[in-house]
Amino acid sequence: MDNAPPVRVPMDLERFVRRSREGPCFVCAILAGHPNYSHHDVYEDEDFIAFLSRYPTLFGHCIVAPKRHVESWVHDLDEEAFLALQRVTHRVARAVAASVPTERMYSLSLGSKQGNAHVHWHVAPLPPGVPYEQQQYHALMSENGVLSVDDESQAALAQTIRSHLPAG
Ligand SMILES: [Zn+2]
Repeated sequence: MDNAPPVRVPMDLERFVRRSREGPCFVCAILAGHPNYSHHDVYEDEDFIAFLSRYPTLFGHCIVAPKRHVESWVHDLDEEAFLALQRVTHRVARAVAASVPTERMYSLSLGSKQGNAHVHWHVAPLPPGVPYEQQQYHALMSENGVLSVDDESQAALAQTIRSHLPAG
């Protein structure tokens, strides 16, 4: 993180869509140690896992997910389970904010029944200095490019975020 922040480059959206819709569940694949779903984890406990997004649109973009394969946070998680997920999401967000310059922390649940259905929460820090019209959805959309990051810098970033989190 001593270097200039990574720049956004066009993403191979077709490949991403194919992977999302035809591949295994990405969260379950990570948990199973699938070789094509390597990741940099930042947190893990009995029920949850958090890791750096493989396609970060913002530096420090993390995904938080329950280990159990559930597809609707409204219907499949009761209030207790939802609050437990949000507790981990809040912890991860604080650790991310302590690790990278953050003007605003975005947090949202995406996914689709047709791909990436496993409930997962995005935690994505907007750095200072982004023009207003490039914030919010614009900043989150991979259609506007993803950060050009290498494995080494992501490993270092994950280590920094982990250092701000309690061990699971
Ligand atoms: Zn799953």
